[in-house]
Amino acid sequence: MSIECESENTSFKIAVAGTGYVGLVAGVCFAEVGHQVTCVDIDKDKVQLMKSGVSPIYEADLEELMQKNYAAGRLEYTTDYKSAYREADAIFIGVGTPEQPDGSANLSYIATVARQIAETIEKDCLVVVKSTVPVGTNDKVQQFIHDFLPREGEKTTSNGAGRSIRVEVASNPEFLAQGTAVRDTLQAARIIIGTDSKWAEDILMKIYEPFNIPIVSVQRRSAEMIKYASNDFLALKISYMNDIANLCELVGADIEDVARGMSFDERIGSKFLNAGIGYGGSCFPKDTKALEYLARQHGYELKTVKAAIDVNTDQKTILYKKASKRLITFNGLKVAVLGLTFKPGTDDLREAASLENVPLLLDQGAEIYAYDPVGKSNFSKKYPEGRNGKGSIKYVENIQEALDGANVCFVYTEWGEIREIKPEVYKELMRTPLVYDGRNLYGIQEMEEAGVEYYSIGR
Ligand code: NAD
Repeated sequence: MSIECESENTSFKIAVAGTGYVGLVAGVCFAEVGHQVTCVDIDKDKVQLMKSGVSPIYEADLEELMQKNYAAGRLEYTTDYKSAYREADAIFIGVGTPEQPDGSANLSYIATVARQIAETIEKDCLVVVKSTVPVGTNDKVQQFIHDFLPREGEKTTSNGAGRSIRVEVASNPEFLAQGTAVRDTLQAARIIIGTDSKWAEDILMKIYEPFNIPIVSVQRRSAEMIKYASNDFLALKISYMNDIANLCELVGADIEDVARGMSFDERIGSKFLNAGIGYGGSCFPKDTKALEYLARQHGYELKTVKAAIDVNTDQKTILYKKASKRLITFNGLKVAVLGLTFKPGTDDLREAASLENVPLLLDQGAEIYAYDPVGKSNFSKKYPEGRNGKGSIKYVENIQEALDGANVCFVYTEWGEIREIKPEVYKELMRTPLVYDGRNLYGIQEMEEAGVEYYSIGR
């Protein structure tokens, strides 16, 4: 995947703070369209890895573009933020804003970068916050940077001049989905920029010009809200379908048919209608909680989003609860777990269904045989191979090994190769062909015909 850069486009010196899913992909894509990019991270090992041409995250096309743009001299990686920020026309912030125990967003990483920027920059510079931050945060970031800028005469720039520099903060929320991050960036449906001055708006417009993607330019606070409103809407859609799916089971309807019937209505749309074991990942869970928290702070109860959160919490363990009713115990049973990551196409485990369910199974004394094409390395950091409390976990190299002799199987992630398993394979390999499918990957009838006892969601 690549974009041809038109020669008349202006090339900017861009620094990107944080090389996670958002920062690294943004940095690489900025380089791809012709900007001069330095990616900054505090993690030395990560920087070393990236310099050697290896992507620290699993994301289609990313490594290839990293290598191409690094070789072309448009992309660099460093832990030395000073050298990167000092030279930059624009600094994009893509550090994490993880959830805190009360649901609010942890803004300490943003604050650290803001302070580093203030203490480093020596020329006019636009700071662009890509991280997802509560509405109003960027006003504070701008104030924070101004508060920490050395006063005139306090410090001279490296070229000896005193400083009077313009620095503003813009909001540029990110909408990429993990697994398709590069495509989502180079071919985004829209780019949202939130600025409170023409100067900032012009710079961002020029930076994004070579992408040739519609730009929606709004006030900074509205841009911040667009991000939360979009993510929470999708989370709501998922929870709504899961809620309806649970009711379908009780009243004898099939959620797959219901979703298909709904999907023809353009007002509803055909995406995000799949029922399953709930949403996970680094965004929906935390962004729903953060918006709900923000509303509470303002004395408002965001009832819809609250409901989405509640439904999702229950949904994550719905299969475990079903299986617990069917089996006397998991103790000593061989349990095949297919899929560990929160969705296919990524090695990210954040808020994955597996992380909710595996500890429950281990606690019951299950002997888990887990398979995931890329999730093993991250998962085994949390649950090392071997005994884990009352149970044990073994990571296997293929699906067959996981299923061989298993008493029960749980499907948590819809990887293509898991979807492709024929019902007969479950019947042939498992000791008891009992399958709990959290992603509705197989037909009820075909599983029944193959002799598999099969439970899924909403049908
Ligand atoms: P991440 O946790 O994968 O990466 C954050 C990176 O920032 C890490 O590599 C960390 O070492 C680095 N870092 C921390 N402090 C630093 C500092 N002072 N200077 C330089 N680097 C520093 O995070 P992510 O998943 O890329 O998410 C980043 C933000 O983007 C979050 O606010 C998230 O909500 C938002 N977002 C994420 C996604 C997604 O799919 N992951 C999509 C849209 C928006």
